[in-house]
Amino acid sequence: MSSLLTETNQISEKVQQALIDILTYVSEKSPFYKQKYATLTINKQSFDLTDYKNIPFTTKEDLAANDLNFLCVSKNEIAEYVTTSGTTGNPISLYLTQSDLERLAKNERDSFQLMGLGSNDLFQLLTTIDKQFMAGLAYSLGVQKLGAGMIRIGPGVPELQWNSILKYEPTVLIAVPSFIVNLIEYAKENTIDFTKTSVKSIVCIGEPIRNDDFSYNVLGKRITESWNVDLFSTYASTEMGAAFSECTAHEGNHLNEDLLFLEVIKEDGTEAADQESGEIVVTTLGATGSPLVRYKTGDIAKVYRSKCKCGRTSPRLGPILGRKNQMIKFKGTTIYPKAIFEMLEQFVEISCYKIIVNKDELNNDEITILLEDKIESTSVFLSILDQCKSKLRVVPKFEFLESNTLRSMVYKKNLRKPEKIKFN
Ligand SMILES: [Zn+2]
Repeated sequence: MSSLLTETNQISEKVQQALIDILTYVSEKSPFYKQKYATLTINKQSFDLTDYKNIPFTTKEDLAANDLNFLCVSKNEIAEYVTTSGTTGNPISLYLTQSDLERLAKNERDSFQLMGLGSNDLFQLLTTIDKQFMAGLAYSLGVQKLGAGMIRIGPGVPELQWNSILKYEPTVLIAVPSFIVNLIEYAKENTIDFTKTSVKSIVCIGEPIRNDDFSYNVLGKRITESWNVDLFSTYASTEMGAAFSECTAHEGNHLNEDLLFLEVIKEDGTEAADQESGEIVVTTLGATGSPLVRYKTGDIAKVYRSKCKCGRTSPRLGPILGRKNQMIKFKGTTIYPKAIFEMLEQFVEISCYKIIVNKDELNNDEITILLEDKIESTSVFLSILDQCKSKLRVVPKFEFLESNTLRSMVYKKNLRKPEKIKFN
């Protein structure tokens, strides 16, 4: 038996108890787990990781089939109804109790503390808090728990964002990083001296800002090359009701061990060792509304198990490499959409694009990249073709559309995020 397995078998008494508690709770309260764990017996004295790993996984399909089956409380105990963003299917509803809201607040407070932020900071929220979106709500609660101040502007409207930044002087922005690029462009066009503002940090949600080696990716570079701000990446999902957040060492997003139990599972079903990649699987410790046990997120990342430069020993996750169900098998190679996004986003001339993935008659994937028609007969397009050959090692199909037509296919009114890729 490998030393890793022996080591990870030794879970602390606190974690062991938290796992026993959540297993007992869901087997009694959730219709889904009541049925699924009908034959499961938990020996509270000897329960260890081997027992835990024998418990069946919960999948996104289980949850999507009937999210109400996961509900552990009566309707009048639900404090908030939230949904997933639906980027990989129909939105799934999750149900939060008052104590889940407290758990969310603790999660974000702890995240801010990892980033070296405190009660003297003033936060500006640039994401939505309504439309059943959990992140905006979570950050709002976390700022309150931290004892700091909050300006809730919401998404979009660069003019409003800048008016607020100049008037109230926030020190931290919470935003989708691609919107920060718009914000910088707006400042440049309107002679706002954004380099001399109060903003020192940006908490980035929803999009990666780092490469695999933790250097800034194209998006991260675009922001930091013109604005002297510290970017913090986060990885979170509505289902987890918790986030993995970067500390001041900027070398991976830390697990909050009080709120989640983490496994990173390789293709062969075994646990990923230090610096290996696999699927992120979580159990939501302490959740009471819609708790999940051994939930397969579908997200693939590298795990870092050595002690962090910040001194903490909790495992960290590297940037998300892709989603398990979004691996594109194209002409004999595997490509994650992220690689195509990053290739295209290097070009400042490309302000809008969409990737379409179709299956051909042999069940192979076919990639078509839609670009604005102004790109078609330029040298930029020739550079894109070169980049496809060198970075992706394959050349997909290209189609060119009128700018507004393409935009309406990417920025859809009923979606919270731009639809940059579509699997048919
Ligand atoms: Zn750290």
